Amino acid sequence: MVSQIHVVGDEVADVTIPGACMVCKGEVALRMTGMSAALVCLSCHLITHPKVEVGTDSVRLDYRPRALV
Ligand SMILES: [Zn+2]
Repeated sequence: MVSQIHVVGDEVADVTIPGACMVCKGEVALRMTGMSAALVCLSCHLITHPKVEVGTDSVRLDYRPRALV
């Protein structure tokens, strides 16, 4: 469940998601910029760049490692 969405610009939005940290299940702050995203956990301070899939009523975070291209 997304608790808060703040649209910053045309292709930038900040989202907070409770329970989404893969390490501690804490609340995360996610900045989505176009097709990329940066995430920081507000509890354990994990920083990562998950793949984000936005559905009609959902946001899916994929933490799997990706190959560098
Ligand atoms: Zn965490």
